[in-house]
Amino acid sequence: MKLTRAANWFARAAGQEGGTPAQTPLPCPHCGGSNVVVECVPGLCLTQCGDCLVSARTEEEAVALWNRRDGRPSVSRDPLPCPHCGAEAETQHAGGWWANCSEGCLEKGKTEAEAASLWNRRITVAAAAQNRDDSRNLAEKRGASGKAKLGADKLLAMWNEDKDGEYIMVNDDGSAHYVAHDTVMEDIPKMNGETFVGIREWMNKNSFWPNIWSVNDHGNVTLRGHKGQDLGGLV
Ligand SMILES: [Zn+2]
Ligand SMILES: [Zn+2]
Repeated sequence: MKLTRAANWFARAAGQEGGTPAQTPLPCPHCGGSNVVVECVPGLCLTQCGDCLVSARTEEEAVALWNRRDGRPSVSRDPLPCPHCGAEAETQHAGGWWANCSEGCLEKGKTEAEAASLWNRRITVAAAAQNRDDSRNLAEKRGASGKAKLGADKLLAMWNEDKDGEYIMVNDDGSAHYVAHDTVMEDIPKMNGETFVGIREWMNKNSFWPNIWSVNDHGNVTLRGHKGQDLGGLV
C-alpha cells in the first residue's frame, strides 16, 4: 500500500486522467486539519486523515479523538455519530484503541473519486440523532429489532444457562465478578472508576466475552450490554 499526499494525488488526477478534476477533499471533520491522505490498492481507495490515523492508549482517549469536531473537543463521553455518514461509531482494541464508523463507510470507495466523495459527506450530530431515532421508531413499529430488549422467555433461558455456567455479575454497588458454576472466581476491577470499562478491559485481556448480568439485592437480574446498556430484565 502506498500513501499519497492528497495534494499530489489531485495534481496527478487532474494531469494524467483526462484532466478531470477530482473533488477537493474537505478538511478532516475530527481535527480540522488538511493532512488528508489517499490510500489505494487495486479496486479500493480510502481517503483518511493522516493526523487522526493514530491509535490511543485508552478507549476514552480514542473516543475523545474521534469526538473532536473541527478540532473542538466534545463533552460527550460516548462516541458521537460518524461525521461522514451519521452511522453509530464503535471502538475496538487492536494494538491500541481506535474509534471508527460502525458502517466502515471509508472503506467502500472503488475509485479515488468515490473515496473522496465518501470522505466529503458531512452530517451534523443533530441530523444523525434524528436519523437514528427515525430508524429505531420504524424498527419498533415493525416489532423486529436487534436493539430491542429481549423477550422474557429468551432472557429466562439465557439466565438459566448462565447461572449454572459462567457469566459476569455486576452488583448494585458497581463491583463486578467473574462467576463460574456458582462460585466467584475473580474480582473484576473498575477502570477509571468505571465498572463497564473495567469489564471490557478484562474481556479483551482474557479474550473471553461471557454475558453480563446485574443482580440486585432482591435477586432481580438484568442482562447488560458491554457498555452497561439494559438489554432486558427478569423480576
Ligand atoms: Zn484529522
Ligand atoms: Zn460513517
